[in-house]
Amino acid sequence: MHCPFCSAKDTKVIDSRLVASGHQVRRRRECILCHERFTTFEGAELLMPRVIKQDGTREPFNEDKLLNGMHRALEKRPVSTEQIEEVVHQIKSQIRGTGEREVSSDMIGECIMEALKKLDKVAYVRFASVYRSFEDIREFGEEIARLGD
Ligand SMILES: [Zn+2]
Repeated sequence: MHCPFCSAKDTKVIDSRLVASGHQVRRRRECILCHERFTTFEGAELLMPRVIKQDGTREPFNEDKLLNGMHRALEKRPVSTEQIEEVVHQIKSQIRGTGEREVSSDMIGECIMEALKKLDKVAYVRFASVYRSFEDIREFGEEIARLGD
């Protein structure tokens, strides 16, 4: 690929390794001309079902949206980027695994909650409180109590 710094037509791969539990290849590249270094990620592009929103409209599945939601919930939590990527991969597999051409945004929300519950309890409560918009503080307390079990 072309160098993103000087647009030279040739760059060389200086390191290559598997990341995200083997679902991606991370390549460290160097420009032959200006010697700047940069990283590329390569992964398979698999077709995702479209998303049915609450108002009935459809939109393409958006991985960035999923990632942003996870990052927001996991802010300042002891969870690595690698772990988050792995969970995102699992959620995507789960959604694809339904075999449906369209899935509801609710179904995706439930998948995220299930994944967060296993990954980080605080992030789970954060996400659930926004997603489920707990009716009152009592309900919120019950959810936290359930986590204790
Ligand atoms: Zn260059």
